[in-house]
Amino acid sequence: KGMACSSPRDKPVRFAVVGGGVAGVTCAEQLASQFPSDNVVLLTAAPLVKTVTNYKQVSKIIEDFDVEEQPSSLLEEKYPNLKVVHAAVKSLQANDHVLLTEKGAKVSYEKLCLCNGARPRLLIQDNPHVLGIRDTDSAQDFQKRLSKAKRVLVVGNGGIALELVYEVEGCEVIWAIKDKAIGNTFFDAGAAQFLIPSLGADKPEKAITCKRSRYTTEAPGSGPSAEPGSALGPDWHEGIRTWLVYVQLTNGKIYGCDFIVSATGVVPNTEPFLPGNKFELAEDGGFLVDDHMRTSEPDVFAAGDVCSAGWEPGPLWQQMRLWTQARQMGWYAGRCMAADVLGEPIELDFCFELFTHVTKFFNYKVVLLGKYNAQGLGQNHELLVRCSKGMEYVKVVLSGGRMMGAVLIGETDLEETFENLILNQMDLSAYGEDLLNPGIDIEDYFD
Ligand code: FAD
Repeated sequence: KGMACSSPRDKPVRFAVVGGGVAGVTCAEQLASQFPSDNVVLLTAAPLVKTVTNYKQVSKIIEDFDVEEQPSSLLEEKYPNLKVVHAAVKSLQANDHVLLTEKGAKVSYEKLCLCNGARPRLLIQDNPHVLGIRDTDSAQDFQKRLSKAKRVLVVGNGGIALELVYEVEGCEVIWAIKDKAIGNTFFDAGAAQFLIPSLGADKPEKAITCKRSRYTTEAPGSGPSAEPGSALGPDWHEGIRTWLVYVQLTNGKIYGCDFIVSATGVVPNTEPFLPGNKFELAEDGGFLVDDHMRTSEPDVFAAGDVCSAGWEPGPLWQQMRLWTQARQMGWYAGRCMAADVLGEPIELDFCFELFTHVTKFFNYKVVLLGKYNAQGLGQNHELLVRCSKGMEYVKVVLSGGRMMGAVLIGETDLEETFENLILNQMDLSAYGEDLLNPGIDIEDYFD
């Protein structure tokens, strides 16, 4: 393999990508395969890279895949023109097209894509009792501390918090959320209600040695507790325990615990690249990118969690910092960089027409489509819901008789049909509630 890192006098590499997450790896792979005789350099701080495996195109836009951490040598074996450099990037001189690494190396590039992700937004910075979970290291730290913990407090209501409260065993969990229902990033109150029984139930597959997660619900804003002693929680009778840290919630309760997991969203990692450059940032702190994934600095593109979509989104799509979009953006950014180099036009990819996400929560398959939570629709929408306890939960969001979004929990087998109905924006008013009538084979209706 030729030397990919160059001194400023050396020939620049054609493409440099920063970040070995899903976005960066996908972007680098796309470039390496499209330009087999050009050098592509992937710079990443972590020793392992995240690659997409078991990729399945479920329907037009819906995709399903796993993410695996792999040694970077596997990538280099697959693409002889792709070189992975293990180094954190310290700074960027965008005008000179030069990256500087922590180890003092310089990399000159023609086109650059920044895919260096985001980090957890912590409740409190630099407190040894407050943990954010981001990568393998922080997950291992979490596991280690969990093994000795009697009680942890989880703060947040997104996907990570949901997964944690479900997975943690042998330790009491206090789950602090400010919303009325659990999982509000993904679900409405109805779906939350459907899922709650799974928290107390035994999980399939794994043998359960000691599961005693406890969940109590408390109406938000119900005011300070009348008996402060009770706030120490159900294990109080087991003897006085000196907790490492105490938390006071806005309902006035105080809980002692071994540590706190802060799962309240992420902050894009833009800092190393800002000094000396004129990047335009979005309100959420990400690099603002246009519909060609270009930042405001020439020849610098960005994809994945570190960027914020700056184009006018279609009526059925929203950005969410998830694997699916990291892959889609990384892939599309690679194609945009290629089109730029070749002077070819390129249109915004079809995948940005419709928000789709396939995942698992509480061991149920979950498919989210379009404006699944009526995002941005105001009062101008109606919901149809079908639910059979422990089996499935189906919710459809309609506006003006057209399907705008859906939540499918369980093995509903409806994703492809609903994707079609959302994409073609057919007027469904005539079907009324029959749309979700289990006695009617909806696919026959619309095929
Ligand atoms: P990342 O995966 O964060 O990768 C960033 C890369 O940049 C890393 O390799 C890092 O080492 C590198 N880097 C950072 N700074 C520098 C630097 N200065 N120089 C060089 N390299 C640098 N999404 C889902 O869809 N499903 C899930 O189940 C899910 N679970 C999650 C669980 C957890 C605990 C977390 C934290 C997130 C989860 N997400 C999930 C979100 C998902 O992980 C992210 O949206 C996705 O990984 C973003 O990919 P990325 O490539 O943009 O960034």
